[in-house]
Amino acid sequence: MHALWIVRSDNVIKQYGTGYGNETLRDAIDTKVLKTGKMLTEINEMTDKILLRVTIPYKAEMNNNGTNCLGCHDVQNGDTLGAISMEFDITDMRSAGFFTILKILGLNIIFIIIVLILINHYITPYMKLFSNMQDGITKAYSGDFTHNFTTTVGGDGKQIVSQLNTLFKKMQETFGDIKYNLATFIPQGCVASADPLHEAKTIIGELSDIYKFKKTIERDTSKEVVYTRIIDILLNKFEIEQFAFYEVDTVKNSRKLIYITKETSICHDEVDKKANLCRAYRTKSDVISTEFVNLCQHCSVNDTYYTCIPFTINKENSIAISITSNSEDKINVITTKISSIRNYLEAAKPVIESKILMSKLRDTSLRDAMTGLYNRRFLEEFIETLMGQATRDQSTYSIMMLDVDFFKMVNDTYGHDIGDKVIVEIGKVLQENIREADLAIRYGGEEFIIMLHNADKEGALKVAKKVHDAFGALEFEVGNGETMKKTMSIGIARFPEDGDTIWKCIKFADTALYVAKTTGRNKIVEYTKEMSENSDLR
Ligand code: GH3
Ligand code: MG
Ligand code: MG
Repeated sequence: MHALWIVRSDNVIKQYGTGYGNETLRDAIDTKVLKTGKMLTEINEMTDKILLRVTIPYKAEMNNNGTNCLGCHDVQNGDTLGAISMEFDITDMRSAGFFTILKILGLNIIFIIIVLILINHYITPYMKLFSNMQDGITKAYSGDFTHNFTTTVGGDGKQIVSQLNTLFKKMQETFGDIKYNLATFIPQGCVASADPLHEAKTIIGELSDIYKFKKTIERDTSKEVVYTRIIDILLNKFEIEQFAFYEVDTVKNSRKLIYITKETSICHDEVDKKANLCRAYRTKSDVISTEFVNLCQHCSVNDTYYTCIPFTINKENSIAISITSNSEDKINVITTKISSIRNYLEAAKPVIESKILMSKLRDTSLRDAMTGLYNRRFLEEFIETLMGQATRDQSTYSIMMLDVDFFKMVNDTYGHDIGDKVIVEIGKVLQENIREADLAIRYGGEEFIIMLHNADKEGALKVAKKVHDAFGALEFEVGNGETMKKTMSIGIARFPEDGDTIWKCIKFADTALYVAKTTGRNKIVEYTKEMSENSDLR
């Protein structure tokens, strides 16, 4: 304790004086404590020391414990009689406290550092792994599975990373394959997307639509119906509001309007008569008006934008689609769809080609009036087309040459009318025994050719036997209730096994027929190389 003193209140001084040690008020704190009757504490910081001052008042009281201040003092119960002040030197305590705080602080810092080190060691690798995984997954969202997951975490974490890497590698390879394979179906690409997943999905959707479209048009009856399907696709799928659909005859250099939406054609009338005035048809490339001013010189455009798409079906037929709009934006949008439209046209191309061929085949000038079978002209006109198709789709033809044995005798004995009847009956027998893809041709007088499409050796022989037997079984009335039977000989050669052109194979079938005729008639003979080499057999 640094100091201790007592002060008296005015009442006490008045009654007993200031006391031995002059117990009068020393300072403002004493005055305040005596006045308020409440204890005060104060810390007094000086340059060399720190003092704690405590001043406690003492009050007059009279209670049951025997204390009775009022017995000697001339005051009221509760009056302040004086105060005792104590001053403590707490300089050492303060510095001791300061050092204690420093120690606690130090310990805390050490604890925090240890925690940080532990976090760094155990948590950070996980945090890094999560951030790495997040990067990989973000990339994967855009279809990129090339991300390589790495981690310094051991145990389960390491295993997950290894599994993720294997999964991503597989995904990347699979999507790569899918994209590559899909690209072979749609070479132009129908989407421009950085996301291969989205691209794959769109291409598959497109392929599926095109497949359905193709299946539908294959069952259609004519080229004209196929055209209406394409028009429907343009209207409904591509939502093209204004367009004209033309068919171009390359040989005649003429153009025919097949369909137009409400508007009139922008093309000048003369283009229909001179198809090569159509820039798109002539250049075989898309004509897009926004690319150059007055691009096509043979159309009238008043604030109209256009995109014209030419499409070649075959040597004789083309299509031209002229899309128009008053809005440049709309034309630009349609322009981005051209490759997709072309995919549909590409799918329709072989179907239109075959419909054109079929309609030509129905042409009467290619048919024999007596039997209804194809005639020799048909063979001469279409043999190249048939061969081209067969070579393209690697199909085969079994070619049979049939000739009635001793037919001349029929004419000579029973007359030409009976001979004609026999020929008509042969026509029926042939048609009854072949399929739709096969061809029956009256090649000459009583000589016929059958071309069986994609029949194997045994199959072809079976058909030959059926025709041979069916004809042999026929009974022809020759008058007077009498009947007559005839036989035929058949020679068979196979394209492309025996010869690299159909003409060669027809010749070889004829060689085999000759062998049949010269070795007894009424038989089926298959061509062998030796027949061409051995002149005795020819
Ligand atoms: P082979 O067994 O050698 O064939 O003897 P073939 O008598 O049948 O001889 P070939 O094939 O040379 O005879 C063809 C005959 O067919 C000649 C001709 O009078 C007859 N012919 C050709 N076209 C017709 C036709 O349209 N009607 C009739 N009735 N006869 C025809
Ligand atoms: Mg004959
Ligand atoms: Mg003959």
